[in-house]
Amino acid sequence: MSADLISGTETARVLRAEIAERVARLRGQGLVPGLATVLVGTNPASEIYVRMKGRAAGEVGLESRQITLPEDTAEAELLGVVAGLNADPRVHGILVQLPLPAPIREPRVLEAVDPGKDVDGFHPLNMGRLAAGDPDVLAPCTPAGVIELLLRAGHDPAGKHAVVVGRSNIVGRPMALLLLRKGRGGNATVTVAHSHTRDLGAITRLADILIVAAGRPEVVRAGMVKPGAVVIDVGVNRVDDPAAERGYRVVGDVAFAEVREVAAAISPVPGGVGPMTIAMLLHNTVRAAERQWRATGLLVTESVTPVRSEAS
Ligand code: NDP
Repeated sequence: MSADLISGTETARVLRAEIAERVARLRGQGLVPGLATVLVGTNPASEIYVRMKGRAAGEVGLESRQITLPEDTAEAELLGVVAGLNADPRVHGILVQLPLPAPIREPRVLEAVDPGKDVDGFHPLNMGRLAAGDPDVLAPCTPAGVIELLLRAGHDPAGKHAVVVGRSNIVGRPMALLLLRKGRGGNATVTVAHSHTRDLGAITRLADILIVAAGRPEVVRAGMVKPGAVVIDVGVNRVDDPAAERGYRVVGDVAFAEVREVAAAISPVPGGVGPMTIAMLLHNTVRAAERQWRATGLLVTESVTPVRSEAS
């Protein structure tokens, strides 16, 4: 039997509509959430991501500002730009697109972003809060998007055995921490696998919910999945395909066609986690803005409806 499709495209569309409604209400009170993206250099993938994020921000009514700096920008200059955005009351969310060109030290830059405006959730303070189980932290967008996708598809991780393949700071590690957290979207029993894991299949076969973020094309095969499991594929890989118009095709970290015959539900690539990542960035920006306005007394009432991910 073929697994149900968990569509990130459709779920993200619903989430973005909820965010747009929330932004419209804020605008009705004269409050406009602002997102600034900073791109250094000309990495083609980064250029595309930044453009997509800026467009998505505009579509839900956010004020979006893009700052593009040359490849040879000095670290001190970039830190100056970040400091300017930190101080700007019209900017509520700051995203520095990674990777940054060498010799800029990424940790230095990520630490310079005001934690309250850190809509990527990469600041060590926010990572620490996430590790400590803080339910209100600005969490990294990709894993937060996976949780939202699971919940909205009716696959609450609570009480389930979730296996995460990958332990990067961007996806795997925060993914595991979110699943472990007490409260909505958490309460799973969590196992984390990585490149040193012996017999990956033996571990992944234990999963009720299997989340794969290994960055290896189709590393998870049908025999590695428990029948009836829910599979979320975070991977985005280009593989050569002379038959394809562009000479390549995009595949996930899961062998979709064969795993679909074993799993109960599976997210596709593309059209799975990718659109959720961007939607969660918009969501984080609105949350960050509301917090900043509450702190300054500009937003006094709970006049906006929280999106579902904040309801407990
Ligand atoms: P990284 O390369 O930073 O991390 C990969 C992780 O997978 C590492 O922890 C690594 O282990 C582990 N790993 C690698 N090979 C294996 C293996 N054979 N078996 C078990 N574990 C393995 O990648 P990211 O976390 O940044 O991204 C993961 C994937 O998700 C990529 O395909 C990326 O393109 C995609 N992605 C998608 C996003 C989206 O919005 N859809 C956003 C971000 C990423 P170790 O730590 O030991 O090296």
